[in-house]
Amino acid sequence: MSATETTKYYFQRASKELGIESQLEKVLITPRREVKVECIIELDSGEMATYTGFRVQHDSARGPMKGGLRYHPEVDPDEVNSLASLMTWKTAVVNIPYGGAKGGISCDPGQLSHQELQKITRAFVDEIHDVIGPQLDIPAPDMGSNAQTMAWIVDQFSKYHGWTPAVVTGKPLELGGSEGREAATGQGVFYAIEALMKDEGRALSDLRFAIQGFGNVGSYAAKFISQAGGKIVAISDAGGAIYSKDGIDIESLMLHTQSAGTICGYEGAEAMKRDQLLTVDCDVLIPAALGGVLTREVASEIKAKYIIEAANGPTTPEADEYFIKKGIILLPDIFVNAGGVVVSYFEWVQNIQQFRWNLKRVNEELKTIMLDAYSEIVQTAKTTNCDLRTAAFQLAISRVARATALRGLENESFCMIR
Ligand code: NAD
Repeated sequence: MSATETTKYYFQRASKELGIESQLEKVLITPRREVKVECIIELDSGEMATYTGFRVQHDSARGPMKGGLRYHPEVDPDEVNSLASLMTWKTAVVNIPYGGAKGGISCDPGQLSHQELQKITRAFVDEIHDVIGPQLDIPAPDMGSNAQTMAWIVDQFSKYHGWTPAVVTGKPLELGGSEGREAATGQGVFYAIEALMKDEGRALSDLRFAIQGFGNVGSYAAKFISQAGGKIVAISDAGGAIYSKDGIDIESLMLHTQSAGTICGYEGAEAMKRDQLLTVDCDVLIPAALGGVLTREVASEIKAKYIIEAANGPTTPEADEYFIKKGIILLPDIFVNAGGVVVSYFEWVQNIQQFRWNLKRVNEELKTIMLDAYSEIVQTAKTTNCDLRTAAFQLAISRVARATALRGLENESFCMIR
């Protein structure tokens, strides 16, 4: 099943429970606008080259659209579509005033010079500056793009529209970026786990964690969990996995990865086969790397009682059904990894108000939003007697549907959503 089909499956499972009829379902699932442009630049060699850029704007019923911009040789329009729709549900479930979007440029950042990347980014802005903006659609870094990319976008966009730092988030601090943005997704993952375990009556210090991926999300999540006393027994990255039944020292592992570029070769733990991580003996499994890794085959081997989806789309629908049947508690991606977009929202708020928040305030506000969303998801799951993913989608879909109806697309099927 493709990424788009997976999102559609989860969406439809929830919309069925909500009793949404097919006409409204189609309105909610179809992107409002799909833009495809050619970015034409002169390479350092003097040759001309073109790179295809995409922006999918899925829904704006609750506010300007928000989502990352990835730079990758195979930006797949199908995947961009699915990720744009996921952003709509993600921003709705944590109740921040945004819709969803996603974009990308088909290029290989590893093969391009700094100057060439800058030219591609500026050419992309030249093509799409009329359809993005602080009140329209606000891109952010994603795979292959970074704070520097966002700085170029601010500069190029400002040439057309005047000084506009709020056109993107994930900027360098010097250009209006927010404190706490880099760690935000991992911090949000931690708040989600804290809320769940409080409900379950489990102390973090009594739990063993396994984390797939030690990049931005995985490493910060690991840091906050271990600071709170949680024992991280296994970690993997693209190169391999490590295990220690007594718990891995995260600070020293971070120092190792800074110099080695991988967790492999770390001496404070045993080496293990990379994909063994998913089925290792632990209480909490945190996929924080790739989509589609928890398949039906892997699912039956999983020992964890809790799955925290820090990555986007790590669980296939077949595995999801299995977890529900087996009573394995799963916190879904649209909630768990929303910390990044929440702090992006804070960055946008700070830019618009021209007022800076300190890290303490950023984290306090993030925690409030994550805990409120958690309580609402759990309450919805209890009221409608469903799993937490379906509850999160129900909450998100009903918010988007209500906003759509209130803005005037009123008909009988929209009125069914209360
Ligand atoms: P990243 O590139 O910083 O890190 C990815 C990590 O996964 C690396 O450690 C890499 O080595 C590892 N990895 C790759 N293939 C692997 C494999 N087969 N087995 C084990 N590990 C593997 O990426 P990130 O920003 O940490 O994002 C991770 C996931 O979280 C992605 O699904 C992303 O879409 C999602 N996400 C990220 C953010 C964010 O703010 N960074 C926000 C929301 C969702």
